Amino acid sequence: MFLIKSKPEKEVLPIINNCKKILYIVCRGCNEVHIYVKEAVNYFEIIKNKFQTTLRILDYICNKEFLNKYISVLSKEINNSDAIVVFSCGVGIASISSALSEKKVFTLCNTFYLTGYKGFNIPYEGKFDCALCGNCYLNYTAGICPITSCSKSLLNGPCGGAKNGRCEVDKTKECGWEKITLKLKSLNKLDILIKQIFIHNHNTQP
Ligand code: SF4
Ligand code: SF4
Repeated sequence: MFLIKSKPEKEVLPIINNCKKILYIVCRGCNEVHIYVKEAVNYFEIIKNKFQTTLRILDYICNKEFLNKYISVLSKEINNSDAIVVFSCGVGIASISSALSEKKVFTLCNTFYLTGYKGFNIPYEGKFDCALCGNCYLNYTAGICPITSCSKSLLNGPCGGAKNGRCEVDKTKECGWEKITLKLKSLNKLDILIKQIFIHNHNTQP
């Protein structure tokens, strides 16, 4: 079981500040996730006063078939938006970031571990995972989780050991940090890596 909680406004608003039109997607969750829908709606009240905001409440956005359908139905809103902001677990955000790789996608929340059953399956072709770290970094890593995509879970990668795009620890997988860097470059956001140094707060983990 895991829990989704809002990020502080002061962390999120500067990141989306230069956007005018926002598509705000809230995932209602699934069996494994508890989402504070009230917090998600509160964030809508905050951002709609600052940006031209369209709200869509969906469910199971990590499911590939559902997501493709949503993207098709919402194509006008997606095309008209400067950014898509998402209230969901890490897998949901990573799924949208990957499916809409040319768009800016941001998260408004953190995903925490709760004790008990963790029946976390990953319907989106098993491509994405969330380690429930409690401090989501996807806003700085182009929607690719550094904790689960990097074998060393580096927050300030790459380690420099990758060869031909393959991880030095596990050659069967692509270097997560190479993927992050290439995607940030394609979004013209490489400066993020120069400006920020991240320190992992392990107190948020189980
Ligand atoms: S950074 Fe990764 S592990 Fe942490 S909440 Fe985001 S998706 Fe989950
Ligand atoms: S090669 Fe890439 S994925 Fe592997 S440990 Fe180094 S930075 Fe992480």
